[in-house]
Amino acid sequence: MEALAAEIKSPASLLALPGDDVRQLMWRFADRYELQMLAQAARGVARGPVARLVAAGGRNSHEWTAEKAALLPHFDESGITAAVLEPEQGGFIAGPKNFALALIAFELAWVDAGAATGSLAGNLGLAPIHERGTPEQRAKYINAAAPLKPGEKRKQVRAAFALTEPLPFVGVETGMLAGKVRVAEWKKDGEPTLHVEKRGRFITNMGFANVVTAAVDSDDERIKGSCMVILEEGDPGIFDRGTPTKKLVHQLSSTSDPVFNLKVPANRIVGGYTIKDGVIIPNFSHSEIIEAVFRRTRVTVGLMTSAKLLSAVEPVILYQRRRFRGGEGGPGTPRYELGIQQKEDALHRLVDIWATGEASASLGFAAARLFDELDPLEKQKDAWLAERKLTGRAAFKELSKKQSEAMELVEINSRPVGERDLKRAAELEKDPLVKFSILDSLASVLCPACKLWNTGHGANMMREAVSLMGGYGITEECPGFLGQKWMDAQLEATYEGPEAVQRLQLSVTMTSGLFLAQFENWITEMRRIASDRPGTGACTLGTAMQLWLWTLKHVQSTPDADGARLYHKTRQGVTFPLADALCWLLAARQFILDLIELETKSAENPSLTDGLAGTVAFFTDLCHVQTARAAGETGRICAEIVHGYNRHPAWDETSCHACYCADELKTLEGIIPGIDDSARAYSDVTEGNESHPLKAGPCVKFAGLEAFVRLRAKLDGCLTGCRLAKDRAAESLTKVMTREALDYPV
Ligand SMILES: Cc1cc2nc3c(=O)[nH]c(=O)nc-3n(C[C@H](O)[C@H](O)[C@H](O)COP(=O)(O)OP(=O)(O)OC[C@H]3O[C@@H](n4cnc5c(N)ncnc54)[C@H](O)[C@@H]3O)c2cc1C
Repeated sequence: MEALAAEIKSPASLLALPGDDVRQLMWRFADRYELQMLAQAARGVARGPVARLVAAGGRNSHEWTAEKAALLPHFDESGITAAVLEPEQGGFIAGPKNFALALIAFELAWVDAGAATGSLAGNLGLAPIHERGTPEQRAKYINAAAPLKPGEKRKQVRAAFALTEPLPFVGVETGMLAGKVRVAEWKKDGEPTLHVEKRGRFITNMGFANVVTAAVDSDDERIKGSCMVILEEGDPGIFDRGTPTKKLVHQLSSTSDPVFNLKVPANRIVGGYTIKDGVIIPNFSHSEIIEAVFRRTRVTVGLMTSAKLLSAVEPVILYQRRRFRGGEGGPGTPRYELGIQQKEDALHRLVDIWATGEASASLGFAAARLFDELDPLEKQKDAWLAERKLTGRAAFKELSKKQSEAMELVEINSRPVGERDLKRAAELEKDPLVKFSILDSLASVLCPACKLWNTGHGANMMREAVSLMGGYGITEECPGFLGQKWMDAQLEATYEGPEAVQRLQLSVTMTSGLFLAQFENWITEMRRIASDRPGTGACTLGTAMQLWLWTLKHVQSTPDADGARLYHKTRQGVTFPLADALCWLLAARQFILDLIELETKSAENPSLTDGLAGTVAFFTDLCHVQTARAAGETGRICAEIVHGYNRHPAWDETSCHACYCADELKTLEGIIPGIDDSARAYSDVTEGNESHPLKAGPCVKFAGLEAFVRLRAKLDGCLTGCRLAKDRAAESLTKVMTREALDYPV
């Protein structure tokens, strides 16, 4: 134990780094014993064989080596491989498994995300079959993915997912398929044989996969559209694994550019097909399948980066505290005990890293839980549509009706309790399709949000973590492998759709009426939380959410200075930053909700209350730090968009654009009492200047934007106390107990 650990602390100070008791409450699996065991098992693999392999230099090769392959039996024996399977398929978790897989990814990526990716890519390879496969396909391939029981003799399926193709074909743009499928042979009344040609780029698990789900397009008038096909090693033709990709990241996973030229029976079309007028019509296009697959698997990727950030806290603290030991000053002196932790900036930056890690983990696990809730409802929706033989437009029409009812329910629940039509609410709540519509609108936002923000902003923050370790940070010896984790985070931001893909998706889903109605309720929720727990920064967040919503509505209804539409798919300069801002808000909100869960649930258990009081106090400050940062980002983004597409009325080279004119000052005075004297003085000078452009006409800079300016000013005021919270959190970092060394090798 660190010397400082012995210091007697007040009951509300952070005693130790958060353990499993804290995580299980925050991420809501305290009553799921099987998940707790799974997390432990995955941790054993991560901090055992995976960490030893990384420490031994296992990442220093591009090839799929025997040492890397030796991780697969560990995945099998620990339950990691079977976690995705149903109990009757050889698994051990009944029901939806999004959260379970998220926990595995988190634990493995705590040490090495390449190992996490290797394990998850197998699931990704099977996911098309899992989500859209026929019963026969599921029975054949998913059951065979179960690890072998003792004495069992069969080939275990190890899968890969092949969508991406060599340039210039599939990448972000998933529709440009070069992979082709043709009819090779079609005997009368027999099953057609297909000829599949597919080249892949960057395909994970290709060093050892024996089953590949590949996206292809029809190159034959007897096959309609695109589909995914299942390819097996041993099918007639070429199954070439390709050369290993020279990755700078995730080297414990296998990645290569394979080439397939194979003959397969038509029953390998994922989800099956029908035949109409001599044409094979796949039941699902490749895009329908990948949409169903990625919307789940992207959440787990987001959590890999969260794990990295949280895993950085302890090594950085250990490094900082010991930095000056052995030099001047002995035990007991601040220099010896605190080292770099004497310096405020080093502490504040670590607070930011920790707060980001918490918020991103909260967002990711909330998304994973949401998908667990959504999965059975989605099945009910599919069955409901199938019963009524509703497809395409007709299905869309019926689902739109359900969305209107869902909207009605959200609206009823947003009213004060006494004013709600409880009978109607109960009626609507009973309808699983109404519930599906509500949760689906949230999942369509939370999934891309967590993939985008956790990995993109997470990668930036990993750089911060690396910088806190000085030169050590960018060496292979860095404790916690932080340098590798920094680079790895960039892959997490890239694969399964880079940030642009997530922003594109968000720019559509975040404008759904159903999502926005719930978002408005969340603003009220934050106001309510703020009155009970002002220290969380919920007030700041509520105002930032209001500002974001105002800005969205503004750009949806107001053209730019040239009369062009602002909110449009071609204006990524508007839609993308607004998507980014939303992510900041969602992550901070979820962190606050998880903190409240921790506080509430630990209060119900007296054995936990005392120990966790300090953690709750510390996390309250972290929430405040994070909400302030989220509010700052939102304010900046919204202000740039709201003002940035206006043109100054008399914009020219000679004028001073930064000034406030008299009209503007008048507006501002109503909003910000005692507006900065320097602004007034500046304004006086420019007003007296003959060349001042605003003399020419009335000021229009704020016209119609008073509500926005007022909200922004309010938002700034809401930041009151956020730096005090940061100071307190920073102080906690100087006192918290750590281990003597990490629990995995370096
Ligand atoms: C290690 C590794 C493992 C992988 N594993 C797999 C796997 O198992 N299976 C698989 O199928 N694929 C896999 N991939 C591929 C990965 O999913 C793609 O690399 C990724 O989706 C991006 O495609 P791209 O590289 O072609 O980028 P591009 O399509 O060339 O895009 C490059 C950049 O251009 C910009 N851009 C592109 N389009 C737009 C747009 N519409 N709007 C705005 N900006 C845009 C974005 O900044 C984007 O990041 C893997 C990749 C790597 C590196």
